[in-house]
Amino acid sequence: MIKEIEAKSILSYCKHPSQWFGVNYNMNLYRGCQHQCIYCDSRSACYQIENFKDIIVKTNAVKLLDEALRRKRKIGTIGTGAMSDPYMPVELEYELMKQSLELIDKYRFRVHIATKSNNILRDILILEKIAKRYASVSVTITTVDDELARIIEPGAPLPSERLQAIGILAEIGVHVGILMMPQLPFIMETKEHLDAIIDAAVKCKARYIYSSFGVTLRDQQRDYYYEQLDKVEQFKHLSTKYKERFKDYYSAGCVNYKKMKGYFNTRCRELGISTEQISYEKYYGNAQLNLFQDGDRFLT
Ligand code: SF4
Repeated sequence: MIKEIEAKSILSYCKHPSQWFGVNYNMNLYRGCQHQCIYCDSRSACYQIENFKDIIVKTNAVKLLDEALRRKRKIGTIGTGAMSDPYMPVELEYELMKQSLELIDKYRFRVHIATKSNNILRDILILEKIAKRYASVSVTITTVDDELARIIEPGAPLPSERLQAIGILAEIGVHVGILMMPQLPFIMETKEHLDAIIDAAVKCKARYIYSSFGVTLRDQQRDYYYEQLDKVEQFKHLSTKYKERFKDYYSAGCVNYKKMKGYFNTRCRELGISTEQISYEKYYGNAQLNLFQDGDRFLT
């Protein structure tokens, strides 16, 4: 069900930009997510989202963003895509992300978007404009296997479509890379699986692959994840294995975590692909930042 609400505020300040792609401000235009990934952490009880299948549209988000950006004295990077995908299907109707990008461009801010959707290509012209300052997109690829993705990310575009989008974004100068997270214990623990993602990243000219070798399991979301695994013939046995190994732990690391990470890092190094997050600050370096007087509003 889609519900419309009026939000009180839209932009939150991030105290530690270095922790997530140099993001200074964060925004969520929607709550809930139509992609319905079976491992999604946003389904956890701690977030108090009554029904994760309900999509909440913050209808006044663009107005709030306009007011907030007009008042900001420091230019920064605005991040989105943490709790809800900004390019889920409902965005094609409401266009909150598109209008937000127009404001981000108007006020000369920068952007970092995390998404699992090739719908982002609808906004390619605005992104190209913002990219002249700095636009960064992280596309989540947990697997390149479209059939596996249909099971674990049932509402999201297929990985093959996302990879195609990465290639196009790279061509127009967006800093685009891959979020290889989560990696599901027992399901994604093979060399072939890692090779396939790394090779695909190289092919579509992704700048980095930022990884996490495991999945988070919290109250409510853990049960949902196990229920979904139990519905799939090939994964039926896994919930028992998970319960034995991870009990009620928050973090469920891949069993071969060290081997996987070691192999992954070495292979990425060999192929010249970064395993680090990039940010505006990292990309331009401090000297350049001083030169460009980052932090001061450029008056339009
Ligand atoms: S795309 Fe992200 S926010 Fe949406 S369901 Fe999947 S993991 Fe959750």
